[in-house]
Amino acid sequence: MFDTVLIANRGEIALRVVRTCRDMGITSVVVHSGVDADSAAAQAADRRINIGPADPRRSYLYAPAVIEAARLTGAQAVHPGYGFLSEDPDFATICAENGLVFVGPAAEVMARLGDKSTARRMMADAGLPVVPGSREPVGTADEAAEVARRIGYPLIVKAVAGGGGRGMAVVRDAGALLPTFRATRASAQAAFGDNRVYMEQYLYGARHIEIQVLADGHGNVVHLGERDCSVQRRHQKLVEESPAPELPPGLADRLAGYAVAGCRAAGYRGAGTFEFLVRGAEAAFIEVNSRIQVEHPVTEMVTGIDIVREQLRIAAGEPLGFDQDRVERRGASVECRINAEDPARDFAPCPGTLTGFRAPGGPFVRVDTHAFPGAQARPEYDSLLAKVVTWGQDRDQALARMRRALGELRVEGPGVHTTAGLLADVLDDPDFCAGRHDTTLLDRRAAS
Ligand code: ADP
Repeated sequence: MFDTVLIANRGEIALRVVRTCRDMGITSVVVHSGVDADSAAAQAADRRINIGPADPRRSYLYAPAVIEAARLTGAQAVHPGYGFLSEDPDFATICAENGLVFVGPAAEVMARLGDKSTARRMMADAGLPVVPGSREPVGTADEAAEVARRIGYPLIVKAVAGGGGRGMAVVRDAGALLPTFRATRASAQAAFGDNRVYMEQYLYGARHIEIQVLADGHGNVVHLGERDCSVQRRHQKLVEESPAPELPPGLADRLAGYAVAGCRAAGYRGAGTFEFLVRGAEAAFIEVNSRIQVEHPVTEMVTGIDIVREQLRIAAGEPLGFDQDRVERRGASVECRINAEDPARDFAPCPGTLTGFRAPGGPFVRVDTHAFPGAQARPEYDSLLAKVVTWGQDRDQALARMRRALGELRVEGPGVHTTAGLLADVLDDPDFCAGRHDTTLLDRRAAS
């Protein structure tokens, strides 16, 4: 096992990784920007290193500074967390060239899966059902019209390099196709430096169901079951849970089988997530995320497996310590994302100083947060302040504990709004409570 791991991230996930390092007796190094010098992660780490200014392009995204910090501290491995450099194959290559283990899949595998159009094709070839759409990126207006004729409306234009709910747009009818196609290419170029887009049928009213996988470099692949992440705003998740409620019988197992087959076909190594859309009995692959997910704690709560620990063990070359039969799932777990955003202003981020912060606690509540009184929600970074996670013997108990937990949570600061109130309302929504909701839930609530 590694002696020293460098964590190339910030916020709650950096602190999350520090904690597992400590559990495993590994020295943790957190890199931070100037404004994060007193962050919870930097304070908790064994060592911290300032790698640049607040602008992430000059700190968290600046590979040479991260590599230099690893060299200075004698780290053997780099855990990239999520976001920032976590899905950048070039960064994985640079790590390898500098004798550092990148905690994640091989750079070539990440490159293939990170290209969402290539990933679709690869998974279709491996026998997974994919959403009907273009097999290749769509380059011209004529091609776009041709694909639209084949798959019909509504459809969705998606950036090949997209992520985080950005770089996609729904097209309702033929009149909107060309403007949306052009606008999505332009926004993909601006956001990702890659204007390629592809097209899929838009499955209105689908649920987002994903499978957590772990694959070692020795041919062992296991899945840790599914998560339902259907409560979304602007194609980004707000509430996640495991198991997924009210799925048709056998569907979760079928998706898990697809994910394991997809992992093998891709030569995947590490922790990863296969995402699917499910509508009725219809299920289709949409993408793979080749990193730890924000919502991984709900899977940890029902399986008792520390996913970051498994990532580190796999990266160190150890075989998985268990096979599929040993993965037991107990009870139900829910996560609510507390973001510094104003739901009343289309979820606009509202950074500011947290004059007050109190995390919930008590039985079967886990809070992953980097917030504390006096901390700053910075405009340069992700608005996630805290993840409140609960466990119950069944879904109703997990939800009851979540209502209690959100009732205890206090986030205060001038101008700082959060998603907490909206999520408390969702917890009382009849469709959500019955497990009948889909990705349109929040839009429908907003419209009513
Ligand atoms: P990202 O990589 O940006 O997260 P995804 O491809 O994972 O993008 O999609 C994010 C969300 O967008 C999905 O969970 C779903 O709500 C919506 N979405 C994506 N593709 C489709 C589709 N073909 N039909 C319906 N909804 C979709």
